[in-house]
Amino acid sequence: MLRNESLIDDIGQDLESLVALRHDLHTHPELGLSEVRTSDIVARELAALGFQVHRGLGKTGIVGTLKAGTSGRTLGLRADIDALPIHETTGLAYASKTPGIMHACGHDGHTTMLLGAARQLARHKNFDGTVHLIFQPAEENFGGADLMIKDGLFKLFPCDAVFGAHNEPGIPVGNFGFREGPLMAAVATVIITITGRGGHGAQPETTVDPIVAGASLVMALQTVVSRNLSPHATGVVTVGSLKAGEASNVIPDFATLVLTVRYFDPAQGKFMRERIEALAGGQAASFGATAHVDWQEGYPVTINEVASTRFAREAAVALLGAENVHDIEKPYLGSEDFSYMLEQRPGSYLMMGNGDSAGLHNAGYNFNDAAIAPGAAYWTSLVERYLRAA
Ligand SMILES: [Zn+2]
Ligand SMILES: [Zn+2]
Repeated sequence: MLRNESLIDDIGQDLESLVALRHDLHTHPELGLSEVRTSDIVARELAALGFQVHRGLGKTGIVGTLKAGTSGRTLGLRADIDALPIHETTGLAYASKTPGIMHACGHDGHTTMLLGAARQLARHKNFDGTVHLIFQPAEENFGGADLMIKDGLFKLFPCDAVFGAHNEPGIPVGNFGFREGPLMAAVATVIITITGRGGHGAQPETTVDPIVAGASLVMALQTVVSRNLSPHATGVVTVGSLKAGEASNVIPDFATLVLTVRYFDPAQGKFMRERIEALAGGQAASFGATAHVDWQEGYPVTINEVASTRFAREAAVALLGAENVHDIEKPYLGSEDFSYMLEQRPGSYLMMGNGDSAGLHNAGYNFNDAAIAPGAAYWTSLVERYLRAA
């Protein structure tokens, strides 16, 4: 236990080089499935520490494996490594050198914290079992977690449990948040195409106007949340795009609506889909038009398993003190592809305070270097508790 309490100090000796590593990753951000340089760096670091390194899962994903002792127990820890298509405006000395791409979600920090833990684990080997450090590509766009799983992640690297984390602006550094059950929403993108029959804007009687049908559908869609869901349920139906027509005097053939739909309960998501399809078909038909609904399933609900979450929370209390651990009251409407891993294995996803930074996905955002030590110490102590040496 004493070592746990001194773990943050222990990481202090690595801190300068970890900060330099984080800044280097920040200067050279890469989009999902293009994280070639980043994964080279991660692989090199892990290999130098004595980890077995497996590359190419999910194209640019990496798993670093370290064994100690004789136990057959296994644990997976995951960091995401990709950046976003945002043009950085921080003005930092180590700002992105790639125009239009930046680490605006702090995955440079997530990667660095897990590499910091890798150093501690390799240095002390104060655990009994096998730890798999999973560096996952393409969290922001292509569902890299799912790609790694489909490439055999948990078959090649069985994990009794898997844990992940995200930094959280607005929460003090060194303060971690936990939630049992749903933490992040499921998301679907829905493209509805309404087909009418175009014609002269002065002769509406010869046409089937898809704009009027589309406008009516926008209003009808508001009733999915307000009339079909229980007032106690949480769901989002947002029409983020409505496009039709080019000219004032031409009635077009088509109107297109693009929606984001979010929810925390898969059964509710299925019900929302049924309602949206029924409204699209029914509204269009009432105007003599037709509707085609293209439902593009995004990331599923991120559901934290109860026992793993309690375990992860206790590890945080032991490391940081109860005053630096909080319970997240309401789940977030954002989504996260770690959900795919939690569909496969028990585990939990937690939030790590990033202090007073700009918000995630903001061009002025930066990961907080002060968060590296508590994050790396936490991952280390989680391994040491989960794979406790006899
Ligand atoms: Zn993000
Ligand atoms: Zn992120």
